[in-house]
Amino acid sequence: MTTPFTLTQGRIPLLVSFPHVGTDLLPGLAQRLTPAAKDLPDTDWLLPDLYDFLTDLGASTLVAHYSRYVVDLNRPATDESLYPGQTTTGLFPAKTFTGEPVWQTPLTQGERDQHRDTVWAPYHTQLSAELERLKARHGYALLWDAHSIAPELPRLFEGRLPDLNLGSNGGQSCPPAVAQAVLQAAEAFPAFTRVLDGRFKGGHITRHYGRPDQRVFALQLELSQATHLADGLPAALDPARCATLRPCLRAMVHAFTTESARFLEPA
Ligand SMILES: [Zn+2]
Repeated sequence: MTTPFTLTQGRIPLLVSFPHVGTDLLPGLAQRLTPAAKDLPDTDWLLPDLYDFLTDLGASTLVAHYSRYVVDLNRPATDESLYPGQTTTGLFPAKTFTGEPVWQTPLTQGERDQHRDTVWAPYHTQLSAELERLKARHGYALLWDAHSIAPELPRLFEGRLPDLNLGSNGGQSCPPAVAQAVLQAAEAFPAFTRVLDGRFKGGHITRHYGRPDQRVFALQLELSQATHLADGLPAALDPARCATLRPCLRAMVHAFTTESARFLEPA
């Protein structure tokens, strides 16, 4: 198998994680996907390309290689529900976001254990190690978990999703003042609707690693794919939409780093 991620180390205290951008499958899995799943419709398409400004900023990035259908990196290894009482997908999704089966023949327990050990665990070991490296070097670490989703998915949420869905696990993964500053940075771009801790409050990565008392702040940004993808498949970035969105994204990430520094660095 190929390595489950690519890590690029930067020079500032920020790590951006892309857990759902992978489209690789382990050997033998592609032919077991149903027609509804074979094009991997629930992928967070092309996000590293959208966030192409991170290298200039000096951020570290962690980019997943495998599809979320192999194992979902943004779910706990125990597979407890992120959103009890609401429809959501688990560690090993059985259904697509639109409710169709993912597999013609389900993953066996042995396969699940293998995927957890060889894909899920290495991503989290690396994520954790990179946050530790940033803390050792800068005295604190910032984590931005980058996601995207179709704007309308009746099975998962009502109506049309706001463009920018920022999650801080209800203020637990990041100080509320920092999350508010990130939201305010987006207000300078009125083309985009936005919400903090709406339907998407942050998944496992945000909740597990965001530990303000240990000087690790984490935010999730769930972007509506209408803000940057062209309509239809195969997925492609829409250059005009990206040109409008990128300055907003950049301002939000900048607000995260500067406001966090004000909190954490001695004057
Ligand atoms: Zn995602």
